[in-house]
Amino acid sequence: MIYLLVFASKKSISLRTPICSFDAMNGILCPQCESKLDQGTLTKADVDASIKLVKLSQKIPQIEKFTLNSCRGSNGNYVLYLNSPDIMTVRQSRELYRILQGEFDGKIWLVHQGSDDKKFIEDVFFPIKILGINQVWAPGGLQKTKVIVSGKKTPRFPIDVDKVVAISHDLRKIDLVVEFERKQE
Ligand SMILES: [Zn+2]
Repeated sequence: MIYLLVFASKKSISLRTPICSFDAMNGILCPQCESKLDQGTLTKADVDASIKLVKLSQKIPQIEKFTLNSCRGSNGNYVLYLNSPDIMTVRQSRELYRILQGEFDGKIWLVHQGSDDKKFIEDVFFPIKILGINQVWAPGGLQKTKVIVSGKKTPRFPIDVDKVVAISHDLRKIDLVVEFERKQE
């Protein structure tokens, strides 16, 4: 019996995903997860990301400790909602980020679980420094969120601003206006 328990614990995974570990490991949904998917509590992006992360966690021990709270797809891009320590781990390792990104066919964005709009914006702009986030009124009474980004826009600017604007609108209903601190010379 003890042997069996040891065996079982070795086979189980500690990575937490929005679908059952068993489902994520085998790439098949159980009836409960299947019905959550039908009801929309789970998305296809949740399922796909869970399977990908479990696969990676079997090779990369750091990922085994992660908690994937959810994944949202937007225009072929993916927002992964992770816990703070997990995001810190990825941000400290270019290699780990590269491996994680390599699993997905679209760009990935790492967002802290439970982020408010301000934190969401900071996360999707990472590693770019944001100087200010303000609410502004656009003509026609539309409320927009103005983000002032440090420095000026150069061809090597690491963030695709158009994608950031699109996913913010799609996933958070935030209408972003992005301004650079310095104008292009
Ligand atoms: Zn399940």
